[in-house]
Amino acid sequence: MKTLASLAREKFPRETDRGQIYAATDFAKEKHAGQKRLSGEDYVTHPLAVARILLEWDMDLDSVIAGLLHDVVEDTDTPLSEIEEKFGEDVARLVDGVTKVGMTRAGRDDISTYLPETKDNLAKLMIATGSDIRVIIIKLADRLHNLRTLEFQPREKQLKKARESLEVFGPLADRLNMGRVRTEVEEIAFRYIAPKRYNKLKRELDFHLGSARKKLDKIRGEVAAKLREEKLPAEIDGRVKSVYSLHKKLEKYDGDFDRIHDLMALRIVVDDVSTCYLVLGVIHSLYTPMIARIKDYIARPKNNGYQSLHTTVETSDGQIVEFQIRTHEMHDYAERGLAASFHYNENKLTEVYKSGKLAPLPANLKWIQDLQEAVVKLRAGKKVDFNALKIHIFSDRIFVYTPRGDIFDLPAGALPLDFAYRVHTDLAAKASGFKINGKMVKFDRELKSGDIVEVLTHNKTSPKLDWLKKIMTSHARTKLRSQLRHQNIETARRENIQKPTGPWNRRGNNSGGKKN
Ligand code: MN
Repeated sequence: MKTLASLAREKFPRETDRGQIYAATDFAKEKHAGQKRLSGEDYVTHPLAVARILLEWDMDLDSVIAGLLHDVVEDTDTPLSEIEEKFGEDVARLVDGVTKVGMTRAGRDDISTYLPETKDNLAKLMIATGSDIRVIIIKLADRLHNLRTLEFQPREKQLKKARESLEVFGPLADRLNMGRVRTEVEEIAFRYIAPKRYNKLKRELDFHLGSARKKLDKIRGEVAAKLREEKLPAEIDGRVKSVYSLHKKLEKYDGDFDRIHDLMALRIVVDDVSTCYLVLGVIHSLYTPMIARIKDYIARPKNNGYQSLHTTVETSDGQIVEFQIRTHEMHDYAERGLAASFHYNENKLTEVYKSGKLAPLPANLKWIQDLQEAVVKLRAGKKVDFNALKIHIFSDRIFVYTPRGDIFDLPAGALPLDFAYRVHTDLAAKASGFKINGKMVKFDRELKSGDIVEVLTHNKTSPKLDWLKKIMTSHARTKLRSQLRHQNIETARRENIQKPTGPWNRRGNNSGGKKN
């Protein structure tokens, strides 16, 4: 295994870049000094390992440095400002994002209790982290290393992490088309969640593969010879199905092993798109294609940007084999996904990316198109404004945190009292002031996504009439009015306070009014 330093030399040839990595390494060592992991190792081995993973993924310099520093703010008394001062605003923003994602997890057992109620985990996390996709990638590296060292955790924690990994991080990696990471995350998590099932399936898989391998070797030889004859240069590899994806497929097929035709697939990697189709023709001339199983993910990429031709064929002696045909670029993208784009290189552009052609996507998947467009830009060596990489769903909602890290979603334009009423009506009733991100603010300070809001209370405080002007959600208004009534402040009605109106009074109403 390469050392962090030698990897850094390989990925960052400029000495000034490496200097920053070394400085961040020293900084992390100093800050985490004395802290230990459950394995007994120094704590700093964890951020160092995370940075290693990010280097292996070819992430940019800021991400690698943020990886080194990702636990400094959360686990030591280092203020974010110190990181900003030493390593710049971008690194500080990344560390802040990773810290916030971490805080949403603090002390929580069940992911559904701390993630806002949407089905889209990526969108949730993106909004929570200020929409910089690199935060998610750093978080994935963090999770991957924690999974790799999960054996040192108590069983309860193992289960929690493993479940969360299957429910959130696996799908996240998939959304970013990071196939290799997704597979590793899922395999480790599944092994901890269902060790017996995992071992049983692994044995069955090995058993079936034993005979399949020999047959596949023969087919592979036939295909290779034919491709040479046709002068189509190609690399052919076998790809073995992961235990977890086998498990999922068996569930779909009532446990019938015989219905699974892609335990092992042959993967053919070629130089360009037109060769992909030529190779498909060659395979169909050798074997009988199962027509319903031809998939052209080149012309119609999957939503996460995955591209390949898939075909399943039957050989003359009845063998059923799946082929996946793709270019080197598509292969790289399938394995490393969005992370692959950070290591940009003009020569690596595929024809699809060169032409700037993107598959049309349904409107609710616009964010993927945004990601894809960012990928195209990065691959062309252009700069991408990560702040502009906004997710378009839920843009009328903001996500704010309690100091404990609980996350609440509110309509855009919400004020501190709206937040307080969402947390608890009794808490709101005693509100004497608010701190946002550690600073005192006025009652009319508009909340922004990512804000950490602390409600200061005083026992002698009680709800006031003029609070009606300092809230904008119907929920808070209803609660406040009932509290005011309760206090016998009948003047609230008699003076007929004009209540602010607008489409945001009702949840889920998007018609007109406030723009997104
Ligand atoms: Mn960590």
